[in-house]
Amino acid sequence: MVEENMRRKLIVGNWKMHGSTDQISQLLEEIESGSEQLLEDIEICVCPTYLHLGLAFDLLASKSGAGRGQIKLGAQNVHVEPAGAFTGEVSAQMLAEYGVSYVIVGHSERRQFFAESDQFIAEKFRAAQACRLTPILCVGESLDQRQDNETERVVLNQLDAVIAAAGIAAMKEAVIAYEPVWAIGTGETATPAQAQQVHRTLREHLDRLDSVIAKAIRIIYGGSVNAANAKELFSQPDVDGGLVGGASLEAEEFISICKSTD
Ligand code: PEP
Repeated sequence: MVEENMRRKLIVGNWKMHGSTDQISQLLEEIESGSEQLLEDIEICVCPTYLHLGLAFDLLASKSGAGRGQIKLGAQNVHVEPAGAFTGEVSAQMLAEYGVSYVIVGHSERRQFFAESDQFIAEKFRAAQACRLTPILCVGESLDQRQDNETERVVLNQLDAVIAAAGIAAMKEAVIAYEPVWAIGTGETATPAQAQQVHRTLREHLDRLDSVIAKAIRIIYGGSVNAANAKELFSQPDVDGGLVGGASLEAEEFISICKSTD
């Protein structure tokens, strides 16, 4: 049994392939001004497209005062190699130069639309960590898999593929996002009890390998999180925040989700 501990809540906005420069600037300005007080207690990260990372970096740098918590930047993807002839790709080193702190790896949209395997995702995880970026490893089952009672097997296999490649110690500097595929962008959310059950399964699995890491690692939930359902989800003992897609594109809604952490 893993004890609850003082993990700092993390809310990540995944902006996917959305936004013009004007929209991104406005969204970020609004999130910045609305979240100022929150940054003392929680961590907030936004993940714009690669193209908008520079803009977001400059905007955040121009606003941050000394000693104040800052909104973190995350990338939605990373390539496994540090440099080379990989047309269209971006390396972890390049992301680090733009002040990126987090990288999403293993998102179900990349597994599904870009045929990313567990092994390839594990390589991305390692490439991110090699440049001191914190990977947010997404795991989650499809609706068929849930209905076939395969949820536990699927998420643990996805996690184990990374542990096999990177080692359990690597999980010390990582975040796990449990994202049931059937809940992403569908308006359907896992119930707080369903989310808690999978989060606990993941934590107990880690506990068998390293109890210190299991207690410290943040496991966040993603899948149609909104201002109405966030509070109950985030109050579950093993849910340490959220990975938010659609609702992160609306500043007021996203701030309200961030406020649901207390
Ligand atoms: C996501 O893209 O990771 C996600 C959870 O999306 P949404 O919140 O729109 O379901």
